[in-house]
Amino acid sequence: MKTTVKILAALGLISIALPAAAALSVFACEQEWAALAQELAGDKASVYSATTALQDVHRVEARPSLIARVRSADLLICSGSELEVGWLPLLLTQSGNTKIQPGSAGYLEASQFVPKLEIPKVVDRALGDVHPSGNPHIHLDPRNIARVADALAERLVQLDPANADAYRARANSFRGRWQAAMSRWEKETARLKGVPVVVYHRDMSYFLNWTGMREAGSLEPKPGLPPTPTHLAELVEKMKRDPAKVVVYSAYNSPRAAEFLSERAGIPAVMLPFTVGGTDKAKDLFGLFDDTIGRLLAAVK
Ligand SMILES: [Zn+2]
Repeated sequence: MKTTVKILAALGLISIALPAAAALSVFACEQEWAALAQELAGDKASVYSATTALQDVHRVEARPSLIARVRSADLLICSGSELEVGWLPLLLTQSGNTKIQPGSAGYLEASQFVPKLEIPKVVDRALGDVHPSGNPHIHLDPRNIARVADALAERLVQLDPANADAYRARANSFRGRWQAAMSRWEKETARLKGVPVVVYHRDMSYFLNWTGMREAGSLEPKPGLPPTPTHLAELVEKMKRDPAKVVVYSAYNSPRAAEFLSERAGIPAVMLPFTVGGTDKAKDLFGLFDDTIGRLLAAVK
């Protein structure tokens, strides 16, 4: 009998150990927002992330499986500020889902709730793949996570008032745990203040701004353009005049350019998770910051 139950469960024919049907279906463009939605909604939502930590979120294929996910979503949460401009608009139109279109309660653009960095004075595509409404990679400043958490909690309550108490309780719990973690991280990152770092893409700007680390260069010659031998040679020269302490790249980047600079300039190259799932330790948002900070502190000691 026991074996039969196990087999049926494995086949998905009976639903033991499955949570009660979730009230809301949440579609997140990125892992960090999926993780935040999971924190705040618990078993009241089924959360799907369009991308993994190993994908470049600027470049995603608007494939039919994603359209189907958007079609059935009650809430869509994405970074916004044109980060997903190459694929999200297509998903939205193709889905035909009126609940999650821009302007509706089911559409949440995380970057609208935070002070934006690097808003260009002029938008010149010759300068690379610049984001005209500012840098959209907002999630590596934990203060921004707190801001988006507040907005997301409100939205969950609005969309599913029957479970309002549960969302508010979870939001309060998250807020408390997040504040405590932030105090700890701020102490830990004091040692990173002023430390010069070479980044891959400008997807670390909010983290640098929060910790006071200094950007000493980027592996990309221009935002969104892959590293070139000429640019890397220039960086090696620049490191002689203005040496960085560490060169970082994200889990979704190729390590080659960082390793090249690391060897030539004699500075450590460090892979950072960038988002939830980018490393084994970055299992959730807390782990993401713990591991990012831990890896940097180990490299610059
Ligand atoms: Zn970018």
